[in-house]
Amino acid sequence: MADETVCPKCGSALNDVTETPTGRKLQRCSKNIWNKETRKSEGCDYVKWIAVEPQILDEKCPKCGSPLVLAVTRFGKKMKKCSKGGWDKVEKKATGCDYVEWINGTTEPLDEKCPDCGKPLVLFTTNAGKCMKKCSTSGWDREARKATGCTYVEWLKAPPPPREENV
Ligand SMILES: [Zn+2]
Ligand SMILES: [Zn+2]
Ligand SMILES: [Zn+2]
Repeated sequence: MADETVCPKCGSALNDVTETPTGRKLQRCSKNIWNKETRKSEGCDYVKWIAVEPQILDEKCPKCGSPLVLAVTRFGKKMKKCSKGGWDKVEKKATGCDYVEWINGTTEPLDEKCPDCGKPLVLFTTNAGKCMKKCSTSGWDREARKATGCTYVEWLKAPPPPREENV
């Protein structure tokens, strides 16, 4: 059993639990330092994400009529899923109701700064379910048909299937 309060990478103590603007909780290694000049974090980069209790929605599953819950993946992507759904770790298969509805086209604030201009980054999820981090100052001028503000974009890998998230 690993000690919960010690960084598995370097053995240092972990900092207190902090909450991101999107309501996700994490603990960083105390050896992780944000360098304002280089705008990079230095030292140990270990981050421990803490599972957030799913929020029960006032909506019913179209398959079985059970309440739906709102779940957030570790990429900040949101989905509605059936509260009767589960994951059998031993059998490695889904149990119960498998209804999942992804919530796409969302923009959420992140607790990270743009490496180009230092403004906050946002997590943008396209309708196709792809995720990217982009600068909160970026925009689109519909009349001039050109991008405005900062152009920093970082594409993220596709999020893992929702079932793995539920372990
Ligand atoms: Zn560490
Ligand atoms: Zn269901
Ligand atoms: Zn920027």
